[in-house]
Amino acid sequence: MTVDLSPWVSGVPDAVVDVLSTAREVLVVSHENPDADTLGASLAIALLVESRGGRASSVCTDPPPALYAFMPGIDRVRTDPDPERRYDLLVMVDCGSLDRVGAVRHRHRALFAAVPTVVIDHHVSNEGGGATDWIDPGAAATCEMVTLLAARMAVPLTAGEGSLAEALMAGIVMDTATFAHPNATPRTLSVAAALVEAGAPLSEISRRLYRSKPDSQLRLFGRVLHRLEAVDGGRVVWSTLTDADLVATGAAAAHSEGIIDLLSQADQAEVTIVFKEQGSATRISVRTKSGGVDATVLTGTYGGGGHARAAGATIPLPMAEAQEAVLQVARRLAAAVDR
Ligand code: 5GP
Ligand code: MN
Repeated sequence: MTVDLSPWVSGVPDAVVDVLSTAREVLVVSHENPDADTLGASLAIALLVESRGGRASSVCTDPPPALYAFMPGIDRVRTDPDPERRYDLLVMVDCGSLDRVGAVRHRHRALFAAVPTVVIDHHVSNEGGGATDWIDPGAAATCEMVTLLAARMAVPLTAGEGSLAEALMAGIVMDTATFAHPNATPRTLSVAAALVEAGAPLSEISRRLYRSKPDSQLRLFGRVLHRLEAVDGGRVVWSTLTDADLVATGAAAAHSEGIIDLLSQADQAEVTIVFKEQGSATRISVRTKSGGVDATVLTGTYGGGGHARAAGATIPLPMAEAQEAVLQVARRLAAAVDR
């Protein structure tokens, strides 16, 4: 291998390496409404544990959407821990807060309370402070961190007949939008180079995640884009996605993924928001322009989180009321941006 990750490998905390190297029965937990970063990190951690002779289960409270079916090993992701196993370590990946684990944490309250936990995450809003927690907001993806962990554990990136490198690359491509977001650093690109060298099919992963969609999803995008609204000279742009849109297009709820990234291309938008109907509550996806509003300030108002440029929250209000409340805060934050 010619790509050298050694400048960064020493940044992986010893405590994380130690617990992952010695654990025998590991439960790896992703966040709800999973994406390729949380799933890729989970599959990769499972491979690392197995390479050390341990066993691992990958769990996510929601089944992985079809978009991620190409990820090798995705079939092993289950919605609940294996009742036959006595877990000795719990690893939470890409979860910006405990809440993000979702309902599985409540279905297995005793287990989650009793088993020692390691958090591996890159969300700036993460407040986790456990002795073995590893939170690096400088990482573009949790999968960037896990690649360095693999290198530190001396597990070859070619492990699992290519599935380790492919899982990790999927997470990095997801969270950087194929290296287009400002979170992609020299370290991100070096890690990605090492994964490509190990055989990760970068172009194909990018096509799967960003340039291939069922017709029903494109129709859904069409409806949401058509309803675009803008105020304050286009500084705040938003649209809505209702259950009726899903019915009319035949699209699945998971197909709303990506609409925000189109909408946020609006030239003047400092803050872009998609409001998604979710029963009597409303989910928001927020994107903001570089050097402007911190998206986590807006979502933090409602107990959500994320990154400065991309964040989300669930608001316990129906669509119309959620819109009124959120837009008021968004307009105030956008008005304060001085360019
Ligand atoms: P998206 O808009 O793509 O759903 O989410 C953007 C970013 O914000 C992702 O990094 C995601 O993990 C984070 N995020 C979305 N919703 C929530 C939430 O309800 N709570 C927290 N803490 N983070 C969120
Ligand atoms: Mn992530």
